[in-house]
Amino acid sequence: MVAADGVRSPLRESLGVVGARRKYQDGLIRVLLEESADLVGEPWNRVIDSWVLNPRTLRILYAPCEEGRRYIGLMAPVDAKDASTLPIDPAVWEPCFPEFSSALRLIGSRGRHDVYETTRLDAWSVGRVAIVGDAAHAMPPQLAQGACCAMMNALSLAVFVSDGSEITAALQRWEAQERALTDHTQARSAELARTRALGSGMQWDDVGLRAAQHVPTGSRRRVRPAAAGRAVAHQSLSS
Ligand SMILES: Cc1cc2nc3c(=O)[nH]c(=O)nc-3n(C[C@H](O)[C@H](O)[C@H](O)COP(=O)(O)OP(=O)(O)OC[C@H]3O[C@@H](n4cnc5c(N)ncnc54)[C@H](O)[C@@H]3O)c2cc1C
Repeated sequence: MVAADGVRSPLRESLGVVGARRKYQDGLIRVLLEESADLVGEPWNRVIDSWVLNPRTLRILYAPCEEGRRYIGLMAPVDAKDASTLPIDPAVWEPCFPEFSSALRLIGSRGRHDVYETTRLDAWSVGRVAIVGDAAHAMPPQLAQGACCAMMNALSLAVFVSDGSEITAALQRWEAQERALTDHTQARSAELARTRALGSGMQWDDVGLRAAQHVPTGSRRRVRPAAAGRAVAHQSLSS
């Protein structure tokens, strides 16, 4: 049996697994906008990561997606209720991010708010039950690796339980194989969330990118890193 029911996982709770969960000071409202005439042209064809740290902490992460869709993430401290509740109030964000005015006004009542949090378990399995994804190892999204680790570990799980060996032992071997990379990625993401270090630039170093560069257990071919051809704009404001 596989428990993959997300960060609040009732299945994990019912198994009585020992672990720890931690919430961080920030959360993110995420929205996927349809193609819009208001968001076309050069300024909108690149990733924009824009922070304001003073007089309050707010961040807008913008990314063009496939078929003209646009992803927008609005980050704010959890206790800043005016910026952490839905529907969003453009008047809260526009004074800090006037360049996003048209995008903010397209959001309307859409959006989903999540608090940054981690889940860390003493073990990823109990007997013949495996726990995978956020139920086992949720992490803040600073390295964009939560779903990636979930999928890598799920693929690896399939590999380990498919070799005909006894399931309980296979689950322990699976965890022994994959756990270190997930723990590393979770710890680094949590550190970046705690310090808000992305406010001074993306952390594109080998420490942060270890999971992104990993070849998943069970993948058939080596994946070559994408060429760094896409422009990434970063703006960090302190006033
Ligand atoms: C703000 C934010 C930004 C993120 N950005 C990124 C990113 O850029 N890149 C990245 O890789 N990851 C990112 N993540 C992390 C990513 O969203 C999660 O790691 C990923 O969704 C975990 O997948 P999961 O399947 O384990 O859990 P979930 O996506 O939570 O899925 C669990 C599913 O189980 C279902 N379920 C629950 N109980 C039952 C039940 N009893 N019966 C049937 N179904 C049930 C739920 O409905 C849900 O669909 C982000 C997370 C957050 C909060």
